[in-house]
Amino acid sequence: MNDCLFCKMVAGDITPDVVFENDEFLAFNDINPQAPTHVLIIPKRHISTLNDTDDALLLGNLLQLSAQLSKQLNVAEIGYRVVINCNAHGGQAVYHLHMHLLAGRQMLWPPG
Ligand code: AMP
Ligand code: ZN
Repeated sequence: MNDCLFCKMVAGDITPDVVFENDEFLAFNDINPQAPTHVLIIPKRHISTLNDTDDALLLGNLLQLSAQLSKQLNVAEIGYRVVINCNAHGGQAVYHLHMHLLAGRQMLWPPG
């Protein structure tokens, strides 16, 4: 997708603050962190929203990677939150599927 911000990161046209990369995923620090740890995990393949994939393997790998990164970032035991925002009411701003990994402070429930 030519005009997709996260695809530009995957292509190397924009350089995010990368915390993890493999063949399938890129993870980087959010530019506007909502917690002391705020990492975005994206599939390298463009998928606009959670509604736009039935790739259970990719989605499972995404969840597993969030748990793996929580250990790498030393927040697994104290705890963390993972979030996928979908479409307007979900608060999605960037239309390339991504998971937020948030940690380092007490999360509130329900979210705003
Ligand atoms: P969402 O509202 O779920 O679509 O989240 C999009 C996230 O992307 C927000 O938390 C933004 O702060 C983050 N973001 C936008 N531009 C960048 C960027 N250039 N580098 C890192 N994170 C970004
Ligand atoms: Zn994209």
